[in-house]
Amino acid sequence: MRIAFFNTRRYDRQFFETANSKYNHEFAYFEPRLDHTTAPLAAGFPAVCLFVNDVADAKTLEILASNGTKYLLLRCAGFNQTDLKRAAELGIRVARVPAYSPYAVAEHAVGLVLMLNRKLYRAYNRVRDDNFALDGLLGFDLHGRTVGVIGTGKIGMIFAQIMHGFGCQLLGYDAYPNSDFEAIGASRYVELSELLENSDIISLHCPLMPETHYIINAHAIDQMKPGVMLINTSRGGLIDTKAAIEGIKSGKIGYLGIDVYEQEDHIFFEDLSDTILQDDVFQLLQSFSNVVITAHQAFFTEDALISIAETTLSNVTCFEQGQACANELKFQEKVVGKTSA
Ligand code: NAD
Repeated sequence: MRIAFFNTRRYDRQFFETANSKYNHEFAYFEPRLDHTTAPLAAGFPAVCLFVNDVADAKTLEILASNGTKYLLLRCAGFNQTDLKRAAELGIRVARVPAYSPYAVAEHAVGLVLMLNRKLYRAYNRVRDDNFALDGLLGFDLHGRTVGVIGTGKIGMIFAQIMHGFGCQLLGYDAYPNSDFEAIGASRYVELSELLENSDIISLHCPLMPETHYIINAHAIDQMKPGVMLINTSRGGLIDTKAAIEGIKSGKIGYLGIDVYEQEDHIFFEDLSDTILQDDVFQLLQSFSNVVITAHQAFFTEDALISIAETTLSNVTCFEQGQACANELKFQEKVVGKTSA
């Protein structure tokens, strides 16, 4: 099948080419993001492959459908970029990669915890500068601290298990609790307010949905312990960034580690080092010494990319052969809360 890939980088091509050795699909790579202005590039391609920050809204889908596209392949778990209703109306079948490596994301979240706590980013730069002073690098033992996990699905569970390994107490909050979480040990489910009030570290692992949009807002921050560490590797829209900035300025938030950002669409995954960044909120965030930002790289491990390429090509092969595809997204699924975003 001829597949038009949007928003691709060298590493995407490398992993897809390798996975394709057993499928022999035909690829064309386009660097721009998919949206209604770039959709005409896919004219004549029955399948289009896209990523998290592409836009498959109604307008884009209509252009794709009118140019012969029948299949939309999301090379990610989240599908908030895709208008599933319009896709169904246009007869476009959509598939995603529901899980690739939950370890990749959970381990990155733990990386942010250690980076912030032991101020590794500052230490690294200091030593390179022959500055061997320790002032300003004081951390705390993770052992015995309380960690709040919001969203105890695939990634939240692994994060919780790792933090349990450090000797932390775990508080969980989930709209759909699962018994495996409380089996980890030193862990229990609580109401959100109890988690906010009692956690030294809070990590977000729930999907972005209307119910979870700004789950961390000014009111939630007010309830937190002074000096709390807040980690977000899930989706930017879970945190009201302006409220978080106020929290940092007042000292309520002692540490902020984020791999996702509300307005990341136009900055992440690009090299903008030669331009003047126009996002004042992002610039302000970057100016705080207790904030660490990574650019949506938590998923970015070899294992995850192998799995993403393999599952995507298996999805399109199912479509091509007229078979049922286990990873197909139907419009109704969007109302089910327990899916990755
Ligand atoms: P999952 O579906 O396995 O787990 C999500 C959990 O959130 C579930 O247990 C679900 O019950 C819970 N949940 C749903 N609604 C909730 C609510 N209102 N309040 C609290 N909890 C709620 O998903 P996952 O694979 O663990 O992924 C978690 C998130 O990680 C995804 O939604 C995605 O946004 C993010 N993610 C980020 C990256 C990255 O590179 N940074 C990569 C993959 C996934």
